[in-house]
Amino acid sequence: MLCPSCGQSTATDARFCPGCGRVLSAVVYAGFWIRFLAGIIDSIILIIPNIVLALAVEGLGGLLLQLALGLVYTVGFWVAQGATPGKMAVGIKITTVDGAEIDFGKALLRYFGYIASTITLFIGYLMIAFTGQKRGLHDYIAGTVVIKTR
Ligand SMILES: [Zn+2]
Repeated sequence: MLCPSCGQSTATDARFCPGCGRVLSAVVYAGFWIRFLAGIIDSIILIIPNIVLALAVEGLGGLLLQLALGLVYTVGFWVAQGATPGKMAVGIKITTVDGAEIDFGKALLRYFGYIASTITLFIGYLMIAFTGQKRGLHDYIAGTVVIKTR
């Protein structure tokens, strides 16, 4: 079959276009625990650079640099790969609700959506366990879903 987005020919059972990454067949949404695990992996990856920043720059400046690092790491990987290294490690990625790659605007919106999911006493994250397409508040804010890639 041919990819409706880029026209590349793909295997009939392919879930993603090898050319542009578009979702081609029925998706499997990633649930709460696998996404929780991905978050822990990302936190572990960021521990060392955060400690280095905290030691190198004292006070508010260091804190702001750590916040900037979290933003650049997360939004950067989302835009480049659709997933942070933690999400890649567990085989999940973010797409728009219609299966397209997320762009910078959506990635940034989703990142700030994390703040909304956090200040709701984490109910925004728990929504993943209870909504049909396993979407957190941040997914509703950015128009995204998280799907399994394998
Ligand atoms: Zn394609």
